[in-house]
Amino acid sequence: MADNQSDLVILGGGSGGYAAALRAAELGKSVVLIEKDRVGGTCLHRGCIPTKALLHAGEIADQARESATFGVNATFEGIDIAGVHKYKDGVVGKNWKGLQGLIKARGIQTIEGEGKLAGPKTVSVNGDTYTGTNLILATGSYSRTLPGLDVDGQRVITSEHALQLDRVPETAIVLGGGVIGVEFASVWTSFGTKVTIVEALPHLVPTEDEANSKQLERAFRRRGIGFKVGARFEGVEHTDAGVRVTLEGGETLEAEILLVAVGRGPTSADLGYEEQGITIERGFVITDEFCRTSVDGVYAVGDLISIGGAPHLQLAHVGFGEGILVAEHIAGLPVVPIDYLGVPRITYSQPEVASVGYTEAQAAEKFGADNIKTVTYDLSGNGRSAILNTKGAVKLVAQQDGPVVGIHIVGDRVGELIAEAQLIYNWEALPGEVAQLIHPHPTQSEALGEAHLLLAGKPLHVHE
Ligand SMILES: Cc1cc2nc3c(=O)[nH]c(=O)nc-3n(C[C@H](O)[C@H](O)[C@H](O)COP(=O)(O)OP(=O)(O)OC[C@H]3O[C@@H](n4cnc5c(N)ncnc54)[C@H](O)[C@@H]3O)c2cc1C
Repeated sequence: MADNQSDLVILGGGSGGYAAALRAAELGKSVVLIEKDRVGGTCLHRGCIPTKALLHAGEIADQARESATFGVNATFEGIDIAGVHKYKDGVVGKNWKGLQGLIKARGIQTIEGEGKLAGPKTVSVNGDTYTGTNLILATGSYSRTLPGLDVDGQRVITSEHALQLDRVPETAIVLGGGVIGVEFASVWTSFGTKVTIVEALPHLVPTEDEANSKQLERAFRRRGIGFKVGARFEGVEHTDAGVRVTLEGGETLEAEILLVAVGRGPTSADLGYEEQGITIERGFVITDEFCRTSVDGVYAVGDLISIGGAPHLQLAHVGFGEGILVAEHIAGLPVVPIDYLGVPRITYSQPEVASVGYTEAQAAEKFGADNIKTVTYDLSGNGRSAILNTKGAVKLVAQQDGPVVGIHIVGDRVGELIAEAQLIYNWEALPGEVAQLIHPHPTQSEALGEAHLLLAGKPLHVHE
């Protein structure tokens, strides 16, 4: 058994792990990146990228169906699912190739194989060990299910199976109205599936500002997407045609398949973490705000972690940010902890839901209900949104006589607007300061500008 020494060993080559590797290499560190599957992890192969390719295919299907609205003669003849997969896999493959090239070009040593901790800063893999002056745990997450709900990969499936499905189901039940559930409900509806979402909490995308949830629910009603909120799953049985789901209270729903989208659990079991003294709670590796674990010199990033036991934002760009932060911390650069409220959140359904900062309820709790104000700018006043035929709104939450602390947007393509919104939140901009900035016409970004004009008391395209 050979032991290999380096400055940094990273276990897991997903968003968090590979971002740390790239930045550490840039800073002159010798880096070993251990990955059991494919670098790029969940996001590139089973998450962000393939789902967005499916959503784009769905958007094209919808545009073909609705082409007459725009005076274009086209007919929608159906989904060629093999063609959709070819397009999706082509996008993933191109990005994967690019990432592998990038990792190689930075001189990072990639080890293929399943690693396990063999010492506080030592990973054993393929019979060899790799010891780093520092170690980063970045083993990510997996699709969770509920007790007594068995995923068989055929009729009861997770997002991983859904991404490989060789047909468009006629009917589907989606268990979970969070980001992943809503995105698949949107894609399948565009492909022609009759979908019903079951969500235990009172709203779809329940962590969003209630106004965003309600806008999305309205849009989904318009699209004919069924959803039951405040509905608790009780059980599922197989039928000749698929599945029968029973909800608490006895109501039953039938469909060809059931997608289980109830969240993602940390990949930390049987990896030797606890044996090496790393504190774990409910499977999550506990870190501080610099992603340091309880063991000196060992960090953890991404979906795997919980900072001080709090729920963590499981997003690829959070993994990137944490990977960079840790690499810089190890290199002795001055770093500041991430303000997770300032990280943009997007649900890429049709329409999109995008937000940054406090929801109105969170702001009321933080600053006091009397110390905040809100405005809502309807996209009906925005020319570009009318051209795109999309509905939605921009809602702003601000402190009275203070900065904007929350921005919440719904509408087609509004995910692109949240990048400007994050600057507004993170730079603690005052409404009047943003109102002064002239937004390009006709763009959807104008809706952000108009919302700030409204908040600053000088509305332009707003009916009083
Ligand atoms: C359907 C879906 C859609 C999503 N869409 C988005 C989106 O649009 N935007 C967004 O920001 N986020 C999205 N996410 C979330 C995003 O994918 C994750 O937040 C991100 O991938 C987390 O990165 P990570 O590095 O923590 O973990 P992962 O990406 O899961 O990477 C962990 C890596 O570690 C490897 N590994 C695990 N154990 C071992 C071991 N013992 N030895 C060696 N290697 C190991 C795994 O093979 C994997 O490659 C989506 C997720 C899903 C499931």
